Amino acid sequence: MKKQQDELTGFAENIDDLANRLKNALNKLEERKAESPDAPGNQLGNSQQEKQPTPYREKIGKLSGEVVDSNPYSRLMALQRMGIVQDYEKIREKTVAVVGVGGVGSVVAEMLTRCGIGKLILFDYDKVEIANMNRLFYQPNQAGLSKVEAARDTLIHVNPDVEIEVHNFNITTVDNFDTFVQRIRQGSLTNSRVDLVLSCVDNFEARMAVNMACNEENQIWMESGVSENAVSGHIQYIEPGKTACFACVPPLVVASNIDERTLKRDGVCAASLPTTMAVVAGFLVMNTLKYLLNFGEVSHYVGYNALADFFPRESIKPNPFCDDNHCLIRQKEYEARKASETIDLEIQEPEEEPVVHEENEWGIELVDESEPVLSSESPNNSGVAEGLKFAYEPAKKDNVSGDLSPAQAATHDLMQSIKDKLVQEAQKK
Ligand SMILES: [Zn+2]
Repeated sequence: MKKQQDELTGFAENIDDLANRLKNALNKLEERKAESPDAPGNQLGNSQQEKQPTPYREKIGKLSGEVVDSNPYSRLMALQRMGIVQDYEKIREKTVAVVGVGGVGSVVAEMLTRCGIGKLILFDYDKVEIANMNRLFYQPNQAGLSKVEAARDTLIHVNPDVEIEVHNFNITTVDNFDTFVQRIRQGSLTNSRVDLVLSCVDNFEARMAVNMACNEENQIWMESGVSENAVSGHIQYIEPGKTACFACVPPLVVASNIDERTLKRDGVCAASLPTTMAVVAGFLVMNTLKYLLNFGEVSHYVGYNALADFFPRESIKPNPFCDDNHCLIRQKEYEARKASETIDLEIQEPEEEPVVHEENEWGIELVDESEPVLSSESPNNSGVAEGLKFAYEPAKKDNVSGDLSPAQAATHDLMQSIKDKLVQEAQKK
């Protein structure tokens, strides 16, 4: 009897093992089938794309607010029921270009993907490195892969409804710059202009390239930055002609006024924290959602000083003497538009809190909306300098410079040399 029982148990175990092996073989077969080029869900991005990973679910046709555990949009559609957003589903028509998918850009792309954005166009030419693992998003097993492709693979799994187009190139070379401009102009889901460009790059040259492209195309964009000491950051909304462009005034930064040229020296390694990057990414995507879905108040500038948990907000007017020719054209267009509008919606915008320079303790280069623009000669600098004497203690030694003019002048020189280089390259062609 005992022997028979043992035999039966052994037989059952064998059957289980066989069934498991069969199941595995079937799964592998399914995976291979799904990886074939004509499988559904694989028509994403542009034609140069390699094979796409298998999405975990079918695409969803219409967003539903139904509260069931299997609905990936129930919590987002709840924003509508709660009266925060009027028409959340509009997000599916929107296209956002993200330039730079590093510590900030990758998190931005993930947030937008989870929010169900219609389409993302990702630009980056870097590879994932193990040294990036102190940040969010990328996994160690992705080291060596191009960032945009690694990002696409992850994002398609997170939300297969989002169309993802990737470009593994540097936007600051002449040919790539042209493609970049063309994608801004025609990259949307309806082959028209994208809804927003988000700059999440870590260098001045790329920011200038985004600025030039957006001024040229009259494209609204948002800039973001995290300081090289990892304890401050900012986001900035830029509407050509209406707000200061990136070339109008020296970059607005919180706390650390470090000349970028000194940061890329041999042996000088920037610090980074997942916290600061995630905070900045969160601000950027929140501002993006408010802008795209038309709720709340879109911020023109939000700074973040992590050491003091200080979040300054500001608006900056464009500089009528901006170096960027397209910026001047957009300024004239904006002025004409404003003059022709009988009801000027701008006036109805809530007034920003005035900047109190005495309380400006962290060396923030900001300009009050009522004043003209910040320039290296601007009397505003003295206002900032005055505020510096109350500098936050730990930041004082390393980050706050009493005299901001040299850094601003250096920024201006750098900007000019980049523009000269781009013009020279274009002329060579
Ligand atoms: Zn400008």
